[in-house]
Amino acid sequence: MNSKLYLIKEGEISLKGGNRNLFEKRLRHNIKDKLSGWNANIEKQKGRLYLFLDEDADDETVEKALSTTFGITGFARAYRCEKNVDAIVSMAEEVLRKNPFGDKGTFKIEARREDKSFPLSSYELSVLLAKTVHELFPALEVDLKRPDYTLHVEVRKDVYLYTDDKKGPGGLPVQTAGRGMLLLSGGIDSPVAAIRAAKRGMKIDSIYFHAYPYTSDEALEKVKKLASLIAPYLGGTRLYVVPFTDAQLRIKKLSLEEETTLMFRASMMRTAEKIAKERKALAIVTGEALSQVASQTLEAMSFTDSMTDTLVIRPLVGMDKEEIISTAKEIGTYETSILPYEDCCVIFSPKHPVTHPDKEESRKHYLSLEMDEEIDKAIANTEVFYFNPLGKEESLKR
Ligand code: ATP
Ligand code: MG
Repeated sequence: MNSKLYLIKEGEISLKGGNRNLFEKRLRHNIKDKLSGWNANIEKQKGRLYLFLDEDADDETVEKALSTTFGITGFARAYRCEKNVDAIVSMAEEVLRKNPFGDKGTFKIEARREDKSFPLSSYELSVLLAKTVHELFPALEVDLKRPDYTLHVEVRKDVYLYTDDKKGPGGLPVQTAGRGMLLLSGGIDSPVAAIRAAKRGMKIDSIYFHAYPYTSDEALEKVKKLASLIAPYLGGTRLYVVPFTDAQLRIKKLSLEEETTLMFRASMMRTAEKIAKERKALAIVTGEALSQVASQTLEAMSFTDSMTDTLVIRPLVGMDKEEIISTAKEIGTYETSILPYEDCCVIFSPKHPVTHPDKEESRKHYLSLEMDEEIDKAIANTEVFYFNPLGKEESLKR
């Protein structure tokens, strides 16, 4: 009983029927993957996971790990004791000394008796523990609706106490819904798109099209930084850096000026599709939102979709820029995304881009560019980086 304990609340997984075991196994695996520096043991009791770690496990790392693991709706550093009243009272005192409530304000005891054979009801246990709190913090008053402090007590196989519960990201464990390839630019949107897709269980690898020297080394570093920031949510991610300068120069030379963006996007899709096939990924994920910029009209999107057989998912399609920005801030990518290194040099952007292309016409134009050779060359020269579930760059294990 001298190891460090975290209580973990599962969300939607607990509603899963026949597949529940699979989801749960994956969640445990994803949690352990992030905490591989310590011995981690996970026990399961109805709707809860109990994570036991070595006493020297670093709280900050554990909290970062749990708050970025999809499938978790909440978690708390918890303390366990035997199932008798004296043990509960003395453990409550110990917990409150370690995690003291303030000198003023309000509190609540949130007791839950899951084991109905325990002699005190939830209410009786709350009353008893309220006395303990009163003794330690005489100035605090009870407020059942909006307390400043809460002591949680759960009576199950053992008894678990905790004060400070934190929100998890919700969703479903990554790698329960197949793999997707994210088109990751240096902007605000695509990292958010990755998180949205991963939240529903998709395992995400990322692709960045790099047009050196038109896009700088700093732009690449920025994308690598973004990949490292989203990697914890993704349970680790590969970043494929595709050298795309020659492909873009070919497009610039051969296509109609106003169609260059469209042609560029079509060639990105074709390239991503090839990498996706190699990686057995079933979807391409982009950060496009409807009508945000010229290339994000329904006509432009139907054209780019028509250039690939792979499913294209746009998780941000119905989000306002403000909502996207607020999510980017929550996940910690915003500050990096707004660094000034542009992901696409102005020389490749037409002054008056076509916004409502005719799909068939543009398809013909794209095919006339004969991009296959350039695409194969770009893929052959692609460099792959790997960011582990803690966001650290690691050499790639194949
Ligand atoms: P973002 O903020 O994600 O850069 P954006 O609003 O700037 O998006 P665009 O530049 O039109 O919009 O890009 C739309 C989407 O296309 C991006 O969200 C991303 O998924 C993909 N994309 C654009 N440029 C690149 C690139 N150089 N490498 C990989 N993907 C890209
Ligand atoms: Mg962009």
